[in-house]
Amino acid sequence: MNKNSSNMMALAPNTSNKRETVCIFGTGDFGRALGHKMIQCGYPVVYGSRSTQISNLIPKDAEVLSHTEAAQKAAIIIIAIQRQHYNFLTQLEEILHGKVVVDISNNLKLNQYPESNAEYLAQLLPGARVVKAFNTVSAWALQSGALDASRQVFVCGDDMEAKQMVMNIVRALGLTPLDKGSLLAAQEIENYPLQLFPMWKFPVFLSLGLTAFFFFYCLALDVIYPYIYEKNDFSFFIALTIPNRVCPVMALTLLGLVYLPGVLAAIIQLYRGTKYRRFPDWLDKWMLCRKQLGLIALAFASLHAVFTLVSPIRSFVKWRTSKTIISQALNNKTEPLDTTNAWLSDSYLALGILGFFFFVLVGITSLPSVSNSVNWREFRFVQSKLGYVTLILSTAHTLVYGGKWFLSPSAYKWYLPNIYMLSLVVPCVVLVVKFVLIFPCVDKPLTKIRQGWERNPKYSE
Ligand code: NAP
Repeated sequence: MNKNSSNMMALAPNTSNKRETVCIFGTGDFGRALGHKMIQCGYPVVYGSRSTQISNLIPKDAEVLSHTEAAQKAAIIIIAIQRQHYNFLTQLEEILHGKVVVDISNNLKLNQYPESNAEYLAQLLPGARVVKAFNTVSAWALQSGALDASRQVFVCGDDMEAKQMVMNIVRALGLTPLDKGSLLAAQEIENYPLQLFPMWKFPVFLSLGLTAFFFFYCLALDVIYPYIYEKNDFSFFIALTIPNRVCPVMALTLLGLVYLPGVLAAIIQLYRGTKYRRFPDWLDKWMLCRKQLGLIALAFASLHAVFTLVSPIRSFVKWRTSKTIISQALNNKTEPLDTTNAWLSDSYLALGILGFFFFVLVGITSLPSVSNSVNWREFRFVQSKLGYVTLILSTAHTLVYGGKWFLSPSAYKWYLPNIYMLSLVVPCVVLVVKFVLIFPCVDKPLTKIRQGWERNPKYSE
């Protein structure tokens, strides 16, 4: 019964042209922008302000009254005032009793106060039906209409009917309400606009650290070593050659790191014989940022593709080609075509192109607009199966490229392995473990565990 009535309420604003008056406390940036949008959508707006003087900035058609007078005119009061000024609201407690009071405030720091602003407001006005909403929408977006990226409005509150009334307004403004539950969720909603790419921090810092390490590794082996031992100045390698070595190494290492937590999780589940024990925190966090790691890996792979495509127009490459031709002309001898080398070079390029193609496909399916249009099984197929195909192709691309130098002592300057050998470590570990995991004697118990079976059940019947 209740459910039906709330559904009917949700439809109500669309079926009637008459909108209820909304009161906004505060004629600041947000109050004005929200009022303007509401008037555009047919809501009569009345402002409650410390000064009842009408300024040019206040939307036309809006009334400006004292707080008491304005609150008396509406059932919904939106508090567009900073939290530190909420104290004066206690004087209006009687007028606000039973009314829907909407807290839209944000803080300057994460968890700035012990309780959320909305809970604080509810403490100040125990008789009011406090709802948290609109804090994730900016005044600028409301004013300019640039709401594409922030169409979602998180709403929470303890009073279902009050929450529905606010959600109806949100819908009427062309935004999408997202019910986050009771007022307890307000703290999380208030922290949301303060977060700066939270899921990207670890992948970005890890990538920066690894890029710096690989860059200096290449610098030592490809520029400093030849300078010291052969008196060759290859410092210009810093511009293109070294980046084109670091990018594929980063792409392959990060791609391996996308799939490594999955195989670690499988080993942990097999060892514990249950899926009902939490993974260590670090593994949980790692698994949550796999998409970001994958997208950064794709960016490195794309850079590698561009660097490789421009390679033939580099003066160093042109010089090296003409040097070979001239030396053949001077010796009056044409080198015969080495078909083994031709095979290796074509295979390595083909594997790289195919690997990049699948990598782009996997990357595209991780975009919300695409992933929303496929079902869970299709999504898993692309992310897991095609992801592994990408990893296999990219690893094979690197192996074919450098495999022939594995045993050559010249590949170990200062006894250090070449950088492409380092890039093979993580992907090879992942592929070998994955290979073991798909053996039926390992896969069967793992599948059973993932379906809920336990080796030593804690609660047996
Ligand atoms: P603002 O421009 O500083 O305006 C705040 C308004 O509060 C003032 O214009 C004033 O209105 C009123 N006020 C100031 N001191 C007061 C006091 N001592 N007693 C009573 N009223 C007082 O701030 P804003 O940018 O509009 O932000 C208002 C609220 O919306 C904040 O809580 C903010 O976190 C939230 N918010 C803002 C945005 C945004 O993009 N700006 C986005 C989301 C949420 P009167 O002069 O009319 O009394």
